[in-house]
Amino acid sequence: MFYVFCEDKTAGYKFWQALGREFLNLPEENIIPCAGVTKIAAKIKSTPLTSRDTVIVPIDHTGRSQYTVVLEAVFREAENRSFGVILTAYYCFESYLLSFKKVHEWGGCTDAKILSVFQDVYDKLWAGIDWFEGLDSEYKRIWSLRNPERLAKRLLSDVTRESGDSFHIGESKLGICWVSDCENRGKLCVDCRMDKDLKTAKLKLKYVLNNSLDLLADSLII
Ligand SMILES: [Zn+2]
Repeated sequence: MFYVFCEDKTAGYKFWQALGREFLNLPEENIIPCAGVTKIAAKIKSTPLTSRDTVIVPIDHTGRSQYTVVLEAVFREAENRSFGVILTAYYCFESYLLSFKKVHEWGGCTDAKILSVFQDVYDKLWAGIDWFEGLDSEYKRIWSLRNPERLAKRLLSDVTRESGDSFHIGESKLGICWVSDCENRGKLCVDCRMDKDLKTAKLKLKYVLNNSLDLLADSLII
């Protein structure tokens, strides 16, 4: 059985719940919110897992010690109980969605400065470069933050803000159009910029998966 240990309880958790439902065929209780990267190892420790299980941990380390400590603890636990571990090549849900080629269009972003930062980050994500390390001093000044996860959250929020309830991801909220069928939403979808033929959550998520970095290090989704 697969389990997903999400780093948060909010937007990323809701996104993984939808992926679990639509693509991974997982019961809801197998998507486990962890309230922060540092809580992941403890949650895994308290979950009954056997050699028949594989845990998906959708973080990568950033060179920061807290990530390294968490991943070392996860692998120690995996060795003790012989379960499998699948990691990602991005370090948080927000950086994954920044690699989606239409996130700025669906998000309705028209601000030239935000778009230029996004484009630079997007290009670096696809080139496999640590984008948060490569930000020049101008970008660091714009965002005033050096924490990569907070930076990704801020950038994703700014890139999607203009879409309101549809695709905005910020203040712990996930825009409803990411994970629901738009054809049933009527007036709520009035500002929705999704592609017209992507009416269901499943079609939209599949489009996102096909136009972003690999979701997982090993391919699980058919
Ligand atoms: Zn919509």
